[in-house]
Amino acid sequence: MLLPGTLVEVPFGRRQALGLVISQAAGSAFSELKTIAKVICRELLDQHQLALLEWCWRYYQHPAGEVLAAAVPKLLRAAQPYQPKPELEYYLTSAGRQLEAAVFARAPVQFMLWRALQSEVLTPAQLRALSAGWSATCRRMQEKGWVTTRRAQRAAPDVNDQNIQSVQLSTEQQAVTEQVCRHFSHYHCCLLYGVTGSGKTEVYIDLINRQLAEGRQSLLLAPEIGLVPQLVQRIQQQLGTPVGTYHSGMSDAQRAQVWQGARSGDCKIVVGTRSAVFLPFDNPGLIIVDEEHDPAYKQFEGFHYSARDVAIKRAQMLDIPVILGSATPSLESIANAGQQRYSLAQLASRHAQVELPDWSLIDCRATPSSLRQGVSGSSYGLLHNDVKQAVQAQLTSGRQVLVFQNRRGYAPLLQCPACGWQADCHRCSAHMTWHRKKQHLQCHHCENIQPRPQQCPSCASPVLEHFGSGTEQLEQALAEIFSPVPVYRVDSDSMRARGSMQQLREEVLSGQPCILVGTQMLTKGHHFPRIGLVVVVDVDQALFSADYRATERLAQQLVQVAGRAGREGSKGHILLQTRQPEHPLLQLLISTDYWQVAGQLLKLREQAGFPPFSAQAVIRADANKATLAEQFLLQAKAAANRLGLPGDVFGPVPALLEKRAGRYRYQLWWQAEHRQILQQMLPQWVETIQKLPSRSSVRWHIDVDPVAL
Ligand code: ADP
Ligand code: ZN
Ligand code: ZN
Repeated sequence: MLLPGTLVEVPFGRRQALGLVISQAAGSAFSELKTIAKVICRELLDQHQLALLEWCWRYYQHPAGEVLAAAVPKLLRAAQPYQPKPELEYYLTSAGRQLEAAVFARAPVQFMLWRALQSEVLTPAQLRALSAGWSATCRRMQEKGWVTTRRAQRAAPDVNDQNIQSVQLSTEQQAVTEQVCRHFSHYHCCLLYGVTGSGKTEVYIDLINRQLAEGRQSLLLAPEIGLVPQLVQRIQQQLGTPVGTYHSGMSDAQRAQVWQGARSGDCKIVVGTRSAVFLPFDNPGLIIVDEEHDPAYKQFEGFHYSARDVAIKRAQMLDIPVILGSATPSLESIANAGQQRYSLAQLASRHAQVELPDWSLIDCRATPSSLRQGVSGSSYGLLHNDVKQAVQAQLTSGRQVLVFQNRRGYAPLLQCPACGWQADCHRCSAHMTWHRKKQHLQCHHCENIQPRPQQCPSCASPVLEHFGSGTEQLEQALAEIFSPVPVYRVDSDSMRARGSMQQLREEVLSGQPCILVGTQMLTKGHHFPRIGLVVVVDVDQALFSADYRATERLAQQLVQVAGRAGREGSKGHILLQTRQPEHPLLQLLISTDYWQVAGQLLKLREQAGFPPFSAQAVIRADANKATLAEQFLLQAKAAANRLGLPGDVFGPVPALLEKRAGRYRYQLWWQAEHRQILQQMLPQWVETIQKLPSRSSVRWHIDVDPVAL
């Protein structure tokens, strides 16, 4: 008898396919059933995991096979039973290092990989992150003798129990852990609202330690890979126990290993991103979702699940506690706490009585034209004079400064002043960003990279102007203004190389005056005690977005980035450059705290009837012609009307980015009073949509609880 959760091979048409045993039936309505060909892995999934995945495919209305694929490491769901084997790394040969960029004039992908390989050795996972077709490209470069491979060198986790540095919790932190511990023996969701620098991580570590003492495992989720190493380091340092990690930056083999370690119970603590929520545990005791508000917990492609919500569901099914921690909780979680569905624990003060930073708006309207952002060639115009003085004062007093600009590259727009030509992506409804160092134009929405034209492609005018600023331009300007103070750029371009974040952390933590300039990568969770001032170069971008969540996001982002200031010692400052100094949200932010801002935003949501005061599901469709996507969704809407879906169906409307990688994207929104209503009716609706004849000319998916337009 085969138990549910067993991985098998079955005949499927003329080929063999993988299958997962879900249950056994006594009989079947079909007469000609084939038999299972081979058992690959008995009980790949235990009953609880199977139940969790089943909940996922029903709740998110997503095909079971793809849910399984998202939840189980590739090597463990392969036709060949998993056997660990050594992993390869790629690097440039000396011939490859000596090439000139011109060699790649017609091979943009090779060019990109070549550039990336110039600074370091890359794993398949890192190469894949650069280009989906990396493997064929690398093979070609190998054939030419430019690239070669070697066995990956794996570093052993450095845990030294001689060196354990335990921490004495403050009274407030202790009260919070006591509060959570009261619910340790059963399911309970606790929202931990702790201001930035209040020691949420210390609370997590204490709770993990208590579980450890009982022999139970803990899972700590982080919204992105960059945050994992420091969490691992802190836990290992304080508990002297090795910590497993699980994220997409790891190789398939490494992931398979951690999966097995967690399942056997050898691995007591795992820190991971989204997909770690599906890891098997021998004796699970606690799940923690750090920075629970972060939209990165939502998977944006394929199986659109929210790892935070799955974590809560999972804790419920396991009957264990789950903690959602944040300095800027999501409006959903705040509403849930308000309705007593979650308990609320608070850390209201920073550790060691450090004060929270004070906020000021810098009115950029009245600046002379040379200071206005985006004037070509005037890199000094990015910062207001008052801001420059404030930066200088911080540096002089020996402190560090963080400059936040959520846009990478040198300039978001390149234009011909003579004829008006703009560097647009021909595959997306977007401009291409100029990356000056790499001497190319890059579309941030698809993989399109072009060399920067030497003259206007349309009228041959030799001068091209750039507008707006990205982190690369700020880096250059700041280095010029504040030389010789070092300027470090932190964005997905500069932090691509493995270990670069770690290296940066070490340099910043050494405490010398410096300027950090970066995107939202810098706003999350980092603890740089010497930062005294945070500058937000342009807050206005998000104030007038069509996305009703934009204000929530902006408030969270600003409070998080402000939280990097003044974490130890004297009080920090945050300066917001704006041309909307009277905007009510900005006024509220500088005069109150996040909880009150969130309360106001919740009121607006309630008035508009948006989530969390309703529930949404969106059907997105894309096609190579706009009309195809639109028509398909119109038919889906007609189906909704026939089924009499309660609530409102809006659309079809174009996505915020209407065209992406050559495909036109449209969406249809269904908003109902409760999730239960959606859940009741979604299967029928989806079933009808699956039968629409027009579906074959579009790609479509459903997103339950969408978080982005
Ligand atoms: P959060 O996660 O809430 O932003 P952290 O846990 O990173 O805050 O704490 C901020 C800083 O304060 C860290 O350097 C941390 O080590 C320190 N800290 C917090 N609580 C304590 C404590 N009880 N004893 C010593 N240091 C603490
Ligand atoms: Zn593009
Ligand atoms: Zn021109």
